[in-house]
Amino acid sequence: MSLESIDRVAVLGAGNMGHGITEVTAMAGYDVTMRDIKTEFVEDGYESIEWSLEKLEEKELLDEPADEILSRIETTTDLEAAVADADLVIEAAPEELELKHDIFSDLEEYTSEDTLLATNTSSLPITDIAEVVDTPERVLGLHFFNPPVKMDLVEVIYGAETGDEAAEAGYEWVESIGKTPIYVRKDVRGFVVNTIVGPFIGEPAWMISEGEATIRQADAAMAHQRGYPMGPFELGDLTGIDVGYHVRKEAGDEIPPIMEEKVENEDLGQKTGKGYYDYENGDGADYEPGDGEGFDTLRVEARMVNRAAYLVGEDVATPDAVDTGVQLGLGFPEGICRRGDKIGLDTVLEKLEALSEETGADRFEPHPYLEELVAEGKTGEDAGEGFYEYDGDGGLGTYHNINVELEDGVLQVELDRPSRMNALSEDLLAEIDDLFSSVDTDEVRCATIEGAGDRAFSAGADISGFGDTDPADMMDVTPAFETVNDFPRPVVAEIDGYCLGGGLELALACDLRIATERSSFGAPEIGLGLIPGGGGTQRLMRILGETRAKELVFRGNHIDAERAADWGLINRAVDRDEFDETVDEFVDDLRNGPPIGLEVAKKVMNEGQDASLDAALAMESQGFGLLISTDDVLEGTAAFAEDREPEFEGK
Ligand code: NAD
Repeated sequence: MSLESIDRVAVLGAGNMGHGITEVTAMAGYDVTMRDIKTEFVEDGYESIEWSLEKLEEKELLDEPADEILSRIETTTDLEAAVADADLVIEAAPEELELKHDIFSDLEEYTSEDTLLATNTSSLPITDIAEVVDTPERVLGLHFFNPPVKMDLVEVIYGAETGDEAAEAGYEWVESIGKTPIYVRKDVRGFVVNTIVGPFIGEPAWMISEGEATIRQADAAMAHQRGYPMGPFELGDLTGIDVGYHVRKEAGDEIPPIMEEKVENEDLGQKTGKGYYDYENGDGADYEPGDGEGFDTLRVEARMVNRAAYLVGEDVATPDAVDTGVQLGLGFPEGICRRGDKIGLDTVLEKLEALSEETGADRFEPHPYLEELVAEGKTGEDAGEGFYEYDGDGGLGTYHNINVELEDGVLQVELDRPSRMNALSEDLLAEIDDLFSSVDTDEVRCATIEGAGDRAFSAGADISGFGDTDPADMMDVTPAFETVNDFPRPVVAEIDGYCLGGGLELALACDLRIATERSSFGAPEIGLGLIPGGGGTQRLMRILGETRAKELVFRGNHIDAERAADWGLINRAVDRDEFDETVDEFVDDLRNGPPIGLEVAKKVMNEGQDASLDAALAMESQGFGLLISTDDVLEGTAAFAEDREPEFEGK
C-alpha cells in the first residue's frame, strides 16, 4: 500500500461530494470510476462534473482540455465492477452507519487486501465504519470539504486500527491531487475543523440566548473586528441550523435555546428562506461594521483556543495541522493556535476560569494542556513560546503568513493565505518587512515572491476590519513595499492568477515580474472610493507613464497578461506550461550574476529615477567607479577572455 501503487480510484456515491471528489481525482490524472445505486444518480453526478469542468475551462483553470479529463472517468451502478481493480476506494454515500457498514462489508468481499479503503464521513467514527472489515488497518477517513473542486483541505483521519502505512499513502495521495492534507491522528468527534467551528457558532448562540448580545452585534464583531470571513450566525444560516443542531444532539451536548427554537420553527437558514436572518422578506445578513461594539469576542475565541488545546494536548493534531485546517477549511484569517498565542494563553485561561466560575458550565472548563502551557510560562508570542516556538528558527525567522526557503542563494517567499487568495493582511506585510530587512544578504543572491494555491499571486489588501480602523492608523505607510523595493538583491514576482490592489503594489515593488497568460492585473481601489495606498499611484506612473497609469487607477478595471506585457507592466507573459522554466531562466541569471554589480545597478536605477539627469548620471559614475576595483570585475573580465562562465563571489 503506497502511493506508487495507486493508479485507479473508485468513488462510491455521485452526490454532492462524490461527484466533486471524482472530478478532482480525474483532474489530477487518475483513472476513476464513480458508482451510485441508480443510473439517473450517476448521470446527474456526471453532468455536474461536465458543467463544472466547462466553467473551469472557460476561466482557463484547466491544464488540459475538459474532454481529456472526462475521458478518465467511468460511471457504473455495479459495485463489484467499480472497485475490483481500484487501488483506492473513497466512499461518499449518505451519512448512515448501517448503510456504510453494508458498503464496507461488500468492499471486504470485492477488493484485495492491498486496496486502500477511505470514507468521506463528516461525523461518524472511522473506527465504527471499519468494524465490519477484517483488515481495518487499511481503512481511513479522507474528509473533503464542500465543494471539493474549490476547497483545498482534506482531513486524513486515523480510526483506532488504521495503520501508518495506509494513512501515509492516503496523505501522499491527497498531495498528489494538489490538495492540502492534515493528519487527524485520533478518531475524535468533529475531527479538527468541526471541533473548532463548534464554539464559533455555539458560543454566540448561548450569548444571544442569555440576552448578552444581539445577532448583528455578534456577527459584526467577529467579522469586522476579528476578521473572520463571516459572522457566526451568517455561517449558521449558510450551512443550515439543523446541521449543527443534529451534531450537538448526537453528541449529547446541551443545545443553545435560540438554536432549538429555530429548528422547532423550521427556520433553518438560507435553504428555508429564514433562519437567524430573513432572506425572503428581509435583506439577509445585513449587519454593518459599526454594529459590533461591545461584543465579548474573547469569550468566543477563548473557547476555540481551548478546543485547539484539547486537539494538540490529546495528540489529535499538531498546532500546524489545526491552523492549516481552520484557514483552509473555514477561511479563518489566521490559525487558531496562532491567534491564541497572540492573545496570550494566560489571558485565554483567565477568561475560561472566570466564565467557568460564573456560569458553572462544563464547556468553559480549561483543558489541562492549556493549563500546563501557562504554568510553564509558555503563554504565547510575547513569552517566546506558546503553541509555537518563536525563536530557534535557523536564522530566517518564524513566519505564519509566508513560507520562506533559502536554497542555493535564492530566497523563495510564498504568500501563504490561499483561502483568502493571498490577501495582504497587516501581519503578512509585517512578516515581509521583517524578512527582507533581517535576512543575511550575504547568503542571498536573489529573491522570488509567489502566491500559494492556484488562484492568485495576491488579490489585494485584506480589508476585513477596515470599518473599525482608526483613519490615523491607515495613513501610516506600510514599510513592507519599500523594504522589498530597497532590498539590495534583485526580487522577482512570479504571478499566476489575480494580481490586484495591494498584490499589484507588492509586485510593482519587485524588480522583475513574470506572469502566466491567465493572470490579470488591476488597481480596483477606486471602486471602494479609495486610491492605491502602497505606492501604487507613484510606481505605476514611473513604470507605465501617465496615460496608462491613470487608466488603471481611474477606471479600476482589470487588464489581462497580454496587455500587461504590451504595456511593460510585466517582463513576460507565458503559457502556464512554460512558467516554471521561464522563471528558472531569469532566476539562474540573477543567481549567477555579480552580487555587487547587481546591487549597484538596482540602487542607481531606482534612485536615479527621482533625481535630475545630472545627479543620476553622477550616481551611475560613482557606482561604476566603485565596481571597477572589485574582485568580481577581475573575475568577469578574466572569464570573458578565457571564454568560460564567470564565478562571482560578491567581493
Ligand atoms: P448526497 O446525498 O449528496 O450524496 C450521496 C449519494 O450516495 C447519493 O447520490 C446516493 O444515491 C448515493 N448512495 C446511496 N447509497 C449508495 C451506495 N450503497 N453506494 C454508492 N452510492 C450510494 O450526500 P453528500 O453530501 O455527498 O455526502 C456524502 C458523504 O460525504 C456523507 O458521509 C457526508 O457526511 C460526507 N460529507 C458531506 C459534506 C457536505 O457538505 N455535503 C462535506 C464533507 C463530507
